[in-house]
Amino acid sequence: MIIVMEAHAGLEQIQQVSSKLEEKGFRVHLSQGVERTIIGAIGQRTAATMVLFETLPGVEKVVPIAQPFKMASRQFKPESSLIKVGEQIVGDGQVQIIAGPCAVEGRSLFMEVAQAVKEAGATMLRGGAFKPRTSPYSFQGLEKEGLEILAEARQITGLPVVTEVVDPRLVEEVADYVDVLQVGARNMQNFFLLRELGKIQKPVLLKRGPSATIEEWIMAAEYIISSGNHQVIMCERGIRSFENYTRNTLDLSAVPVIKQLTHLPIIVDPSHGTGKWKLVEPMALAAIGAGADGIMVEVHQNPSEALSDGPQSLTPENFARLVIRVKKMINALQATAEE
Ligand code: PEP
Ligand code: MN
Repeated sequence: MIIVMEAHAGLEQIQQVSSKLEEKGFRVHLSQGVERTIIGAIGQRTAATMVLFETLPGVEKVVPIAQPFKMASRQFKPESSLIKVGEQIVGDGQVQIIAGPCAVEGRSLFMEVAQAVKEAGATMLRGGAFKPRTSPYSFQGLEKEGLEILAEARQITGLPVVTEVVDPRLVEEVADYVDVLQVGARNMQNFFLLRELGKIQKPVLLKRGPSATIEEWIMAAEYIISSGNHQVIMCERGIRSFENYTRNTLDLSAVPVIKQLTHLPIIVDPSHGTGKWKLVEPMALAAIGAGADGIMVEVHQNPSEALSDGPQSLTPENFARLVIRVKKMINALQATAEE
């Protein structure tokens, strides 16, 4: 439930409600808005407890949260979460552009593409060191060597790095090398992995499972947040539908829905969302139009030679063009916002 305090409620009254909640076994989260304070409470709510809190001084109303997710909910925390990644802030209105190859394939190749995407305007680097592949015979990633390459690229370019973690036992090690830990679509409901990620204090990029409803996806975020890590960034990467022209069906309506239901930032991955490089730029622009906090795209010097996801990878030249058009889109949206 949430307890909405009256606009004039003082600190003492807020404290009284908070300690009463804790006394009754609730976990408390305070949201101090400009107008009023909202106290989020997680625990066993009964009609009697709601009445009890309604009688406390300074309380305007007690509202039950009907949805199964609490800490991720915007009702619980009305202000949008800002997630700090290196020098960047995800969710503050700036559009993040995360770029790099699907997989880290080797040191010199990665350094070259990292420099190229940086020069074109990327704000973060991506690259998989552990690759969850459909076939056990496909390239599985460079693993630890890949992490070392990512850390070096981060040092050389100064850009933060995003990489996927596939195993709960590797969370701490991966967190030592990179700035953002990605949960891949196939692992969205690996609850042991989510819980481990809840124990670290680094941002997590949580991809939507290929068959996950929005509610299941937010519940996955709830696992991480309720385990102690509030730094969750959602990532729409397409879902499975009857349509098979594209690799997945990019559900861009998820962007405003996530913003309405949660306080979490959301970025869009049009590379996995479409599976076709020619569709990446138009869907990246559409994602920005829908209000996404950023995009994540795959870039490879030579897509036809890529060890994974070549067909959806942009060349550095095509990526540079995408960045120019994304910036124009951002400017156009800003101009309409000012009208
Ligand atoms: C990836 O980002 O390379 C990846 C494997 O994505 P997903 O988990 O969305 O398929
Ligand atoms: Mn990929």
